[in-house]
Amino acid sequence: MNHKNHRAAHNKILADQGANSFFDELHSPLNKAMALKEADHCLYCYDAPCIQACPTSIDIPTFIHQIKTGNVMGAAHTILNENIMGGTCARACPTEVLCEQACVLNDDAGKPVEIGLLQRFATDHLMAKAGPHPFRRAAQTGRTIAVIGAGPAGLSFAHRAAVLGHDIHIYEARDKAGGLNEYGLAAYKMVDDFAAREVDFILDIGGIEIFYGTSLGQDLSLNDLQEKYAAI
Ligand code: SF4
Repeated sequence: MNHKNHRAAHNKILADQGANSFFDELHSPLNKAMALKEADHCLYCYDAPCIQACPTSIDIPTFIHQIKTGNVMGAAHTILNENIMGGTCARACPTEVLCEQACVLNDDAGKPVEIGLLQRFATDHLMAKAGPHPFRRAAQTGRTIAVIGAGPAGLSFAHRAAVLGHDIHIYEARDKAGGLNEYGLAAYKMVDDFAAREVDFILDIGGIEIFYGTSLGQDLSLNDLQEKYAAI
């Protein structure tokens, strides 16, 4: 199958599932009324199995309860406090085999709470609001830390270290940040340049500088970094 036919076949699969083309979103975001209705299904389980199934241990019942009670910014903060890339995860995470599969409502008689869509509702709400970054930096420690790679791990670490008051220099081989989120996820999951917007949101905390087109072993050595930085 050539590239054109392959794309046409892929579009047909997506159309059958509700999306119009490879570049359209497969799942539409929830509006406020839909989110409130969906959040109302959650039982706010003690020892919630959905948290155990989440690779980033997001406090799912708490953020759903916050949505239900109208505290959408608080819900976003609960999510991003565990996973600053909660917006990408809400779009790309295979929730049907993780938190939603573990949801106690996922049995023969019912369907699980749409955790991924609720997470997206909350994180999109926060990112759409103009205003100060939701996380504040602690007093500066005077330490600068080097990070190799501006992918999800590097950016997440950099954000947390920046919150703790460190300065961060990220060395990235490519000319754009985001790593897997930018280069590896299907287009229909990451419409509207979301990966780049999320990187901008993360960098807004301050104290993080990215040096593009710089490869370890080619443009800089481990020895250089060890001499220059408090940690790598
Ligand atoms: S398992 Fe389902 S019902 Fe229970 S807290 Fe998690 S999302 Fe809510």
